[in-house]
Amino acid sequence: MLRSPAVKPEARHAVCPGSFDPVTYGHLDIFGRACQLYDEVWVAVFHNASKNALFSVEERVELLRETTADLTNVKIASFQGLTVDFCQKHGAGVIVRGVRAASDFDYELQMAQMNYGMGGIETVFIPTNPLYSFLSSSMVKDVAKWGGDVSPHVPPVVQSRLIERLRQD
Ligand code: ADP
Repeated sequence: MLRSPAVKPEARHAVCPGSFDPVTYGHLDIFGRACQLYDEVWVAVFHNASKNALFSVEERVELLRETTADLTNVKIASFQGLTVDFCQKHGAGVIVRGVRAASDFDYELQMAQMNYGMGGIETVFIPTNPLYSFLSSSMVKDVAKWGGDVSPHVPPVVQSRLIERLRQD
């Protein structure tokens, strides 16, 4: 049964939720493309206590702010709880998710169906640019941890924060 939205969502406003620990060129490609499709795009960092993050939510928000500065219709936020509640609070009718491979799809489909059922919020899947289909934040962290070059995968500011953080650990 549909839970009726508290605020009528604006289909022209979208939310890109995720962990972004840290943001990669794969994420930025999706944000840029979402910005072509929607008037306002919220990039929202999810506080997920069960994931062991390298960067705090505040640090991830700060890196997102710096790396999306050229995207004029992006807004950055963080949230706890249900993505549909965040969407309703900000009048967004659509969740945008990047899909890298078929293996991403089963889980993404379940989540999309759940979010539609709970809040009437649609999910739009954007297929990853093949340049980034192998790229994930965890892989970038692993490569950086062992001294590998992550410059093709993340913006310079993220690369330097990764090196600095991993040196401290
Ligand atoms: P989550 O924990 O929600 O999967 P992520 O930070 O890993 O958070 O991903 C956030 C969003 O970005 C998801 O929609 C994910 O599919 C997408 N994404 C992650 N990596 C890439 C990539 N390399 N290319 C395109 N989209 C990606």
